[in-house]
Amino acid sequence: MGTLVEITVFSEDSRHAYGALQAAFDEIARLEGLMSVFWKDSELSRLNREGFLHPVKVSPDLFRVIEMSLAISQITHGAFDITVGPLMKLWPFVAREKVLPSPGDIQDALRRVGYRHVVLSSEDQTVSFTVQGMALDLGGIAKGYAVDRAVAVLKERGIAAALVNAGGDVFAYGVKPGSRPWRIGVRHPRNPQALLAALPLTDKAVVTSGDYERYFLVDGKRYSHIIDPRSGFTAQQTASVTVVASSAAYADGLATGILVLGAEEGLSLVESLPDVQAAVVTEGERGELILRVSKGFREAYPLDARDLAAQGVRLLE
Ligand code: ADP
Ligand code: MG
Repeated sequence: MGTLVEITVFSEDSRHAYGALQAAFDEIARLEGLMSVFWKDSELSRLNREGFLHPVKVSPDLFRVIEMSLAISQITHGAFDITVGPLMKLWPFVAREKVLPSPGDIQDALRRVGYRHVVLSSEDQTVSFTVQGMALDLGGIAKGYAVDRAVAVLKERGIAAALVNAGGDVFAYGVKPGSRPWRIGVRHPRNPQALLAALPLTDKAVVTSGDYERYFLVDGKRYSHIIDPRSGFTAQQTASVTVVASSAAYADGLATGILVLGAEEGLSLVESLPDVQAAVVTEGERGELILRVSKGFREAYPLDARDLAAQGVRLLE
């Protein structure tokens, strides 16, 4: 999945702990084998090749991830959309040369993008596409799903407290010995050494999507690896989105979608959803950073406007 996965578990018995860790990593490797677009033999690659020709029967995991993705597309009005495959191929994080795609190429790719062109059949667990040349890309949700599954494996094995972190997609449950809660840092999007907040968490996922991990610069302008599926261009202005929810897959998809929607629309969406909180950092014209949080976030995780100001971030109340 192009990232580092770190798992921490607490147990009275180190052999038991190692067994559980191994099982959790095996589960993540299994899911990567199903959902990678970089591997020709993955289940997803096969679906992308055959989905327009006939309905393709897929594993319960792949079916579930696609089903969740379409639900997130609906609530984000298409800002989150796993059919961005043809667009992703145009931008230089996949292509070798750092040249921007032409508007004509984007228009052409957009004809093959749209979550409404994906058809699921729950009875026979099949997926098909209604437009030729479509390609799903699960990069915005698969990591979160893998984190949820790793957590499920650890719980099945009787691990009472653990933290799973797949490159910023985090799930923490249980309490550490001495009953201190897990604290998860939210990174400053422009300063890798600084934290905007440290969130105390139990049995929750925190996912951050940002424009700072994978991006490229052309003429000093930043292009992130998140695409607005409505325009075909990379998402602008939003520097990072942090979502807290009870599922990492859901939080992952939402964070990507909110990065496209922007602070205002994104936070009003979050406030309409039960049990989801979010914090959004936007970058102004002159590079100034502005932090906005949802009502639920402010209640659960108080922030200090003065500390933030010292880090060059303005907290908007
Ligand atoms: P990260 O992988 O850095 O944690 P995300 O979770 O936001 O970031 O996922 C970004 C990936 O999601 C991209 O590399 C691409 O594979 C895919 N993607 C890009 N734009 C979208 C979008 N609008 N909707 C769904 N997936 C997207
Ligand atoms: Mg995501």
